[in-house]
Amino acid sequence: MNKKINVTIWNEFYHERTRESVKKIYPDGIHGALRDKLSEFGEYNLTVLTQDMEEHGLTDEVLANTDVLIWWGHAKHHEVADSVVEKVKARVLDGMGFIALHSAHASKIFKSLMGTSCRVKWRENDEKERLWVIEPSHPIVKNVPEYIEIEEEETYGERFEIPTPDELIFVSWFKGGEVFRSGCTFKRGLGKIFYFRPGHEEYPIYYRDDIIRVIKNAIDWACPDGITKPTLGHVEPLEVVKDKFEGKSMEERTHANLGK
Ligand code: ZN
Repeated sequence: MNKKINVTIWNEFYHERTRESVKKIYPDGIHGALRDKLSEFGEYNLTVLTQDMEEHGLTDEVLANTDVLIWWGHAKHHEVADSVVEKVKARVLDGMGFIALHSAHASKIFKSLMGTSCRVKWRENDEKERLWVIEPSHPIVKNVPEYIEIEEEETYGERFEIPTPDELIFVSWFKGGEVFRSGCTFKRGLGKIFYFRPGHEEYPIYYRDDIIRVIKNAIDWACPDGITKPTLGHVEPLEVVKDKFEGKSMEERTHANLGK
């Protein structure tokens, strides 16, 4: 039997406690809804963390034991400690999967991984969104229909200030005329990253089976199972070869190659 994937769901958990309309939709927080829906698959060890916890819950131990980290944030990005962002980034580079949901596009960690502003156009106007699958053979859209329709969502529009994605899985159309790259994959170091757009806090998006299916598939895709860690730095040759630095010190051996 396969080992269960360790999934950590991280949520800012601010709007659900401060705005009545959001509290009504997500009484247990967005993290609670994601945990409950993902638990139905019976395939994951699910941990939920919120920003107000010590170290935002992201201790060394939690990060070391996380295969895939899901991130939702919006109003409090700037209050996430830089030291924690650096630790999360190091884990992604080391192979941990990372799924950025909706307004996490502007989180410190996503911006740091992308290296760009990650800004978008936006408008909150209850407009219809249609997400088109444009890479049907990709594992993230396994058992997902040709398109997903959301009757009311916040609108995002291009340009989305990200580097060119490795793969573009979804493109959204919005009733007001905008289009948006709503499902994008990236690799950073050994880590796989998926950005998925739906999930504005004023709509019950994370109770939808189709949206959860995409997130489930993204977890399975981003999980670092089976990665062989590469050897980095100075190594001995695999074949018998003449050593041009024979008898020389390591300093002489490396003087022309500092930093590799
Ligand atoms: Zn939003």
